[in-house]
Amino acid sequence: MRFPLALTAKIARHIIQHKLRKTPKFAMVLQLEPLHTCNLTCTGCGRIREYSTSLKDVVPLEKCLQAAMECDAPMVSICGGEPLIYPKIEELVAGLLEQKRIIYLCTNGVFMRKKMRDYMAADYSPQMETKLQTLLKAQLVTEKEAEVIRSSEAARSKVVIRPSQWIYWNVHVDGLEFTHDLIVEREGVFKECVEAIRMSKILGYQTATNTTVYKETDVKEIEDMFKFLSSLDVDAHTISPGYEYDAAKKDMVKRLGKQPEDFFLTRKMTRQKFARIQEWSKAFTIIGTPMYQEFLAGKREMTCTPWAIPTFNVKGWKAPCYLMTDGHYAGYHEMLSKVQWEKYGVVDGVARDPRCEHCMVHCGYDPSGALGTNYQRGDNWKNIKYNFSRKPARYERGHEVNAFNGFSIGKGHLAEAKAAINNPRAAMKGGLSASQHPAEPRNHALGVEPSQLGEFAAKEADSNRIAGK
Ligand code: SF4
Ligand code: SF4
Repeated sequence: MRFPLALTAKIARHIIQHKLRKTPKFAMVLQLEPLHTCNLTCTGCGRIREYSTSLKDVVPLEKCLQAAMECDAPMVSICGGEPLIYPKIEELVAGLLEQKRIIYLCTNGVFMRKKMRDYMAADYSPQMETKLQTLLKAQLVTEKEAEVIRSSEAARSKVVIRPSQWIYWNVHVDGLEFTHDLIVEREGVFKECVEAIRMSKILGYQTATNTTVYKETDVKEIEDMFKFLSSLDVDAHTISPGYEYDAAKKDMVKRLGKQPEDFFLTRKMTRQKFARIQEWSKAFTIIGTPMYQEFLAGKREMTCTPWAIPTFNVKGWKAPCYLMTDGHYAGYHEMLSKVQWEKYGVVDGVARDPRCEHCMVHCGYDPSGALGTNYQRGDNWKNIKYNFSRKPARYERGHEVNAFNGFSIGKGHLAEAKAAINNPRAAMKGGLSASQHPAEPRNHALGVEPSQLGEFAAKEADSNRIAGK
């Protein structure tokens, strides 16, 4: 089967029960943002910008668990910010498992190996030594870390995130090394993500990736990325077009000197980029209904169902959707009843709200496919066939992909800034922004003022830390 039977059955049961009860609106996936703090500052991320004044706030654990109970979505995507920074992340995962939810733990990957070492230390026994030896051989843990895992008595009583059929790591990967590190604005992150994925598979975790496609994303690179990830035994992939958040747009103009139209996708561009998504889904385990894939490929129209993927965060229930904020509500049902849903979305290609015009994102439209919004004859059969068909085979030649095409081979996007730090006089003369290689169109980081060199020095120090230098 493409996805595990227990998970598919749980979601199908949830939809059928609500359809039988004729519930007009109900939640399928809760986007739970326990905090907006993040260790990265990715280009295009609306979250850390929109909630910049509450970055230090966290949602108390009990409130997070209550939110999941309240909307009763079978699946919870824990996102943020970086959720692995949330002080009670292990307890949150444990509490949601107790509620029998499916958990997607979204992460930028930087702290994932640390959390997996915590699990190994808590559960260490001679049986785990074989896995530890495999990790040592693959250089995914150091001898020093292995010793801590073996000998840490205090760790035995810690709550940890263990492999489970109900949990997926969901690692943010937006391209191969050069592109991904450029988008997350830090070198070494792609390499860390790959190492975390390799470690997670050795330890038996289910691991997915999520990718956002921007205007300058090269489709060929996305296909190569899927091939490479498939060879790492990644279990599933979410892929979605980027959306022009107001906050991200403003940031783009102010901080990076870029125009949003240079960066975000229009509907027409999205359809061009996703023209081959149905072929991708035959070759790779893409999460997303066949109807949503047809919509992305430009083969049908759809209306979003944002209430099916509600977002709960430090300010409450965010409305109308994960992307747009016109208000926050204290309760999910209050939000359902008070929001004028008919003001939003795109119907037959016409936007009810201008901000919706180019939106085709996963969190707005994928549930529409599962819920039968804009139902067409044969859709149910397509859904069943997609979910129950055989899982695409591992792409054995994925290791031939030139995945480490940036920082690992000395072509990191911060390299030029680094040279300028070492030679500030050259930078003052304009040496910094002079050469942009045609293959590096998104090298906005290089168009810097000398006054910004401190920021690059900090990023470089971070990269070195990630790379263990
Ligand atoms: S890792 Fe996620 S939350 Fe953090 S800046 Fe990047 S996109 Fe935003
Ligand atoms: S189309 Fe729907 S999901 Fe997209 S921004 Fe508008 S309300 Fe949100």
